[in-house]
Amino acid sequence: MTKRIAIIGAGPSGLAQLRAFESARKAGVEIPEIVCFEKQSNWGGLWNYTWRTGLDEYGEPVHGSMYRFLWSNGPKECLEFADYSFEEHFGRPIPSYPPRAVLHDYIAGRVEKSGVRKYVQFSTPVRWVSYSPETEKFTVTVKDQKKDETRSEEFDYVVVASGHFSTPNVPYFEGFEKFPGRVLHAHDFRDANEFVGKNILLVGSSYSAEDIGTQCFKYGAKSITFSYRTKPMGFNWPEGFTEKPLLTKVEGKTAYFKDGTSKEVDAIILCTGYQHHFPFLPDDLRLKTNNRLYPLNLYKGIFWQQNPKLIYIGMQDQYYTFNMFDAQAWYARDVILGRLSLPSAAEQDADIKSWRAREEVLANPFEAIDYQTEYMRDLLAATDYPFLDVDKVAALFKEWEHDKEHSILGYRDHSYVSVLTGNQAPVHHTRWMEALDDSLEAFLAIKEAAE
Ligand code: FAD
Ligand code: NAP
Ligand code: MG
Repeated sequence: MTKRIAIIGAGPSGLAQLRAFESARKAGVEIPEIVCFEKQSNWGGLWNYTWRTGLDEYGEPVHGSMYRFLWSNGPKECLEFADYSFEEHFGRPIPSYPPRAVLHDYIAGRVEKSGVRKYVQFSTPVRWVSYSPETEKFTVTVKDQKKDETRSEEFDYVVVASGHFSTPNVPYFEGFEKFPGRVLHAHDFRDANEFVGKNILLVGSSYSAEDIGTQCFKYGAKSITFSYRTKPMGFNWPEGFTEKPLLTKVEGKTAYFKDGTSKEVDAIILCTGYQHHFPFLPDDLRLKTNNRLYPLNLYKGIFWQQNPKLIYIGMQDQYYTFNMFDAQAWYARDVILGRLSLPSAAEQDADIKSWRAREEVLANPFEAIDYQTEYMRDLLAATDYPFLDVDKVAALFKEWEHDKEHSILGYRDHSYVSVLTGNQAPVHHTRWMEALDDSLEAFLAIKEAAE
């Protein structure tokens, strides 16, 4: 009997899994029956922008954490799909740091062309997954929102591709209940225009703090104060930005910090990260981890140790993104198709522990890039995913880190060489700090050079 596979989520990770099977099918391989359940009304995951916050039209938590005016925070040359270049999609080289709408177009373009929409059931959140050792099958319970009906189906494999940057981690600080301005988490941030002329405090020292802070400044915020728990970002911040140690309390509009200093602020944005949150999984199938490069209990970062027919895609902290989800999805596909086999439980365990031990001693972002590059190399060697020169990708990531250190407001004005086509990206027609229109049309417009 044909095996059945459920994929939970049609973001970049779930779409990678669909694409992996479709490419085998096009090569003449008989593939299992696939059903992808997606809670939103369209695909693209986080890249599918929504203005909504809180609950969606059906009362489900809104998945989206992206905001208006978001531009890629890494070079597109680092995330390019090895089987579908930006040049193939757009018909010509485009600049290196595209805004959200352009990346969404690219992600969607690959799967529209491979005709996999038929596998996806939209507006269908997965409510629960259970496994029966007797039948060796999973029962997946879903809610069809349009029909307003709940139903269950059986599957041989389940691929969890539901993302992990959606459910916010929201700490409490003394005085929040009386703060006379907005306190929100990055997950609910949508439009920088709300903060024009304001003094903003951002708690956190990672990508969300950096990007929301710089974006608010770009659109006219008066001042940006970052508050870190472990260490400052340490960029060469221009005037208007300050980094402070951790917030201790707020009294009225005054924020107090661990070093005894204080600052009057109008709004507080908690850029304090996200939780790996799987409300549809029982304890014995549920990944429990913080955001890191090597979560435990996943062989190859993919297969649930206690039951390898449960597959997780994209659960790592991410330097590599789209092409890493591909590398994982191709590997998972080949295990399901019986082309690759998994070693004994003891060998899997030893392998996980050795990767984790190496992760524990990483000292800086450059070592972290090399580590995730090694992980990519390991996965890619095993499958027929098209050749991707990860040494070149790693070199680009390092160049990007240097460009950010050199200019946190200017790094997006750089351009890089595509690892796939060898072509240098054009420099964008407008510097990022001046590019206020983030639409696909504005980004792709060819403006007169050297005006
Ligand atoms: P997601 O994109 O989160 O997709 C998961 C999908 O699963 C969603 O469509 C969701 O609706 C669905 N889902 C969830 N629960 C259920 C359920 N119970 N039932 C059915 N469906 C469900 N990466 C980059 O490479 N470059 C960037 O510039 C970049 N910017 C980012 C900016 C922000 C603000 C954030 C939060 C992340 C950013 N990322 C960026 C990283 C991002 O994680 C990846 O690009 C990518 O979106 C991850 O894909 P995913 O499919 O794993 O998860
Ligand atoms: P993150 O990288 O997991 O960082 C979480 C941050 O919150 C860390 O600085 C952490 O500090 C801090 N934190 C957690 N709990 C805290 C507490 N109780 N008090 C104070 N600080 C606390 O999460 P993220 O920054 O939201 O980034 C998530 C993903 O989104 C990344 O993949 C990133 O690339 C992506 N992103 C991309 C863009 C873009 O492309 N434009 C924009 C935003 C985000 P410690 O260091 O002390 O743990
Ligand atoms: Mg290969």
